[in-house]
Amino acid sequence: MTSKERASLKELQSLDIKLRNIGSTIDNFEVELEELEAPTLKLGQEIEGLGKRLQELSLEKKRLELAILEKRERLDKLEERMNQVRNIREETAVHAESDMVKRALKNDEQESLAVTEQIRKMTDRMNEKTTIHTESMAEMEPLRKGMISEREGAESNLEKLTQEREDLAETLDADERAVYEQITSGQGRLAVSELTEDGACGHCYSVVPLQRQNEIRHSEELIRCEECGVILTPETQVVSSSNDLESGAIEEIEPIMSEVETPDSEIAEVSDA
Ligand SMILES: [Zn+2]
Repeated sequence: MTSKERASLKELQSLDIKLRNIGSTIDNFEVELEELEAPTLKLGQEIEGLGKRLQELSLEKKRLELAILEKRERLDKLEERMNQVRNIREETAVHAESDMVKRALKNDEQESLAVTEQIRKMTDRMNEKTTIHTESMAEMEPLRKGMISEREGAESNLEKLTQEREDLAETLDADERAVYEQITSGQGRLAVSELTEDGACGHCYSVVPLQRQNEIRHSEELIRCEECGVILTPETQVVSSSNDLESGAIEEIEPIMSEVETPDSEIAEVSDA
C-alpha cells in the first residue's frame, strides 16, 4: 500500500464519518419538526372538531325553530276552531289538544334556548382556540422554515459528500476497499487508524511490534492491528483538521475486536492479490 493509497483510505474514512454525522442530523430534524408542529397540529384538530359539533348544533337549532313555528301555527288554528265549537264535547277536545300542543311547544322552546346557549359557549371556545392557534402558527412558522432550509442544506451536503465518497472509493484497490468495508460494516466502526508516536495502535493503543511498525511505515502491504483489526497507517507529522475530526469521532465508535474475523488471513489474501 503506497502512502497515497493510505491517505485515500483515511480520506474515505473521514468522509464516512461526516456522512454518518449528517445522516443523524437529518434524522434529528424529522423528530424536532414533529415536536415543533405537534401542539399546533393538535389545536388545529380540536378546532376542527368544535367546528363539526357547531354545525350539528346549528342544524338542531334550525330543526327546533321549525318545530316551534309549526306548533304556533297549529295553536292559532286551534284558537280559531275554539270559536266555532258547537258543544261542550268539542270544546273539551279542542282544549285538550291545545294544552298538549302548548306543552310540546314549551319543551321545544326550552330545548332551543339550551342549544343556543351551547352554541354560544362553543363559539367562544372555538374563537379562543383559533386565536391561540393563529399565534402559535405565527411563532412556529419561522422556526419551521429555518429547520426545513437547514435540513435541505444537510441533504444537499449529504448528496455532495456521497458523490465524493463514490468517486474516491472507485480510485481504491478493490481488495483494500473490501477489507475497509468489512471492518466498517458494523455501525460506526473505525477502519483506519494511525500509529501513535510511541508505536502503538491509534485505536486500541496496543503496542505494535517494531518490525510491524517498520512494515507499516515502509511496505506496500495493508497491515492491520493484531488486537483490534484496524488498518494501520504511519503517523502524520502535521495535525490536520481531518485528524481532529477522526479523533473526535473515535469516542462514539465501539471497539471492533469482537466483530473482526482473523485479520491475519485477510492480510494474506490482500497481499497475495
Ligand atoms: Zn488496535
